[in-house]
Amino acid sequence: MKEHLEGAQKSPIPTRDELGFDPAAIRRKYDEERAKRMRPDGNAQYIEAKGGLAHYDDVDPYVEPGFTRPAMDEELDVVVIGGGFGGQLAAIRLGQAGITDVRIIERAGDFGGTWYWNRYPGAQCDIESYVYLPLLEETGYMPKERYSFAPEILEHAKRIGRQFGLYERACFQTKVTEMRWNAETGRWGIRTDRGDVFRARFVVTALGPLNRPKLPGIPGIESFRGHSFHTCRWDYEYTGGDSSGNLHKLADKRVGIIGTGATSVQCVVHLGTSAEQLYVFQRTPSSVDERGNAPTDPEWAKSLEPGWQQERTDNFNKLLSGIPVEIDMVADGWTRGLRYHEDLMRRIEDPSSLIPEETAALAEIADHQQMEYIRKRVERLVDDRETAEALKPWYGQGCKRPTFSDEYLPTFNRPNVKLVDTNGKGVERVTENAVIVDGVAYEVDCLIFGSGFEVGTKLARQGQFEAYGRDGVSTSEAWGTGRRTLHGLLSHGFPNWFHVGLRQTGASLSLTYTYDTQVLHIAYLVAEGLARNAKAIEATTEAEQAWVDLVNQPGPLQEYQKRCTPGFWNSEGKLDGNGFFDELYPDGPVRFREMLEELRNRGDFQGLTIART
Ligand code: NDP
Repeated sequence: MKEHLEGAQKSPIPTRDELGFDPAAIRRKYDEERAKRMRPDGNAQYIEAKGGLAHYDDVDPYVEPGFTRPAMDEELDVVVIGGGFGGQLAAIRLGQAGITDVRIIERAGDFGGTWYWNRYPGAQCDIESYVYLPLLEETGYMPKERYSFAPEILEHAKRIGRQFGLYERACFQTKVTEMRWNAETGRWGIRTDRGDVFRARFVVTALGPLNRPKLPGIPGIESFRGHSFHTCRWDYEYTGGDSSGNLHKLADKRVGIIGTGATSVQCVVHLGTSAEQLYVFQRTPSSVDERGNAPTDPEWAKSLEPGWQQERTDNFNKLLSGIPVEIDMVADGWTRGLRYHEDLMRRIEDPSSLIPEETAALAEIADHQQMEYIRKRVERLVDDRETAEALKPWYGQGCKRPTFSDEYLPTFNRPNVKLVDTNGKGVERVTENAVIVDGVAYEVDCLIFGSGFEVGTKLARQGQFEAYGRDGVSTSEAWGTGRRTLHGLLSHGFPNWFHVGLRQTGASLSLTYTYDTQVLHIAYLVAEGLARNAKAIEATTEAEQAWVDLVNQPGPLQEYQKRCTPGFWNSEGKLDGNGFFDELYPDGPVRFREMLEELRNRGDFQGLTIART
């Protein structure tokens, strides 16, 4: 393709012959496929894991049952809710700002957050380990491979816990049931399911953007009598094996898995190897790019200069935010589309002469090139033509979470693995022993839900507790028409409460970068608040409104998403502001980090009120 495009062309837009595809035909195909998948109920198609379905969420297969401890009653400077990387980083940055009177409350039995819960076979981080794993230089740890598997990441979370003294401050297996602001004392009262009461001047919630499993509202789902679990509560008792596979207890089992997102792409490989029969129920195929994992080169590791991790992380984030950089240090599947774009631009003598329509056409062509590459890869790796056709994703790369695997597609060449494509409609029905698609019953002994996590639902539903701010007003009441924050961090009516998350921030694909950006600012504000003996730090209504307006401005991402197949990135095609990447700081994660840093450097409490005791 490259040589082809470097020919002496007059028009900046390559022809169909040069490209080897017709962009207009691809666009039409995308629209057709999108139409097949659209449904009126949007997010309401999913059901909460509660009542008769609570066991999909409310179990912890990784702890000994029966843990008890006496209830606690404490006054603290800060309570951090959540012991994933977000919560850990919050506690660490607070510690570095001199604040150590901190308690971390975590529902799980250890640190790790998503990596505590997601231990399914093959679980791996798709972001390069040298970028994703926090505090590598500080802990002196070098990941074993370019893309770390879940056990290594979980171990790193524990390492951070040990090295930064976080275990002494953690309450595990403890669920917050309510937090309530007391204006008189200037403290949050935090209650838990173990009868604890914590009274904290500040609260940081780091609940994770994808923490609560969701289930598809397929008719009959409650009636299934075989064994069943969600991928984030993998039942190794039943399957045998461990996160590296060898699920030997499935050797005589018929297994079905619903969903073909990033999680299933990783675990299907192991289910396919181990199960007697595997049915993969697909609604929308993922785009599956090369994994290309490799052990860390010890010579490269030795050559790294202090500060290397921040430099690499900044480089990755700048590229993905469209900020020019000299080299692409990571150069993996996340930025392949950018390389296609660079190739297209290289053949243009004077890029400044491009009119906006040409610029847009070139961006679209680069996206098509990337997706054509992905579709051709399916043809190369899957033997059966019909199966290969069904596995081809027909949407733009930025529509759904890209995935990366060298083994997923070839798994469909195994005689015991069948792709059951639902042509965009989803599973029709579940009975006590089978999954029905298009009137055909696929009998299964075990049904696994790789159906993802709650996105776009209320904070109280995702966190499973309500927060009551000033005058006893809950977030559900205050944010009836949508979340309201300043910088994604603080809200009017909810003093001294800081959020760590994606919404209304400059979010990065590498979540640890996003979290670190936020907790640096939170630690600064808490330290200043304590130093000034502040009773309540809070966003003003004006600043909050201005921020909400800013992050809700329709931008290029929202425009792009309009043509996308439905999914949790675009609020199931509803584009109602509840998608994963809705309400973001328009200039991206790097500028967001710089903006907060500038505020700190200036000592600027812009948009905040600080009430003194
Ligand atoms: P997803 O939400 O991405 O996937 C859910 C799957 O369930 C989709 O394939 C969806 O189809 C399917 N589904 C939903 N309802 C039905 C139905 N009625 N019938 C049939 N299929 C249905 O969840 P995942 O757990 O796969 O991934 C969630 C996120 O977790 C990822 O996007 C990523 O952000 C993160 N993750 C990160 C990893 C990492 O490397 N860091 C690894 C794994 C996950 P449809 O697409 O049509 O909606």
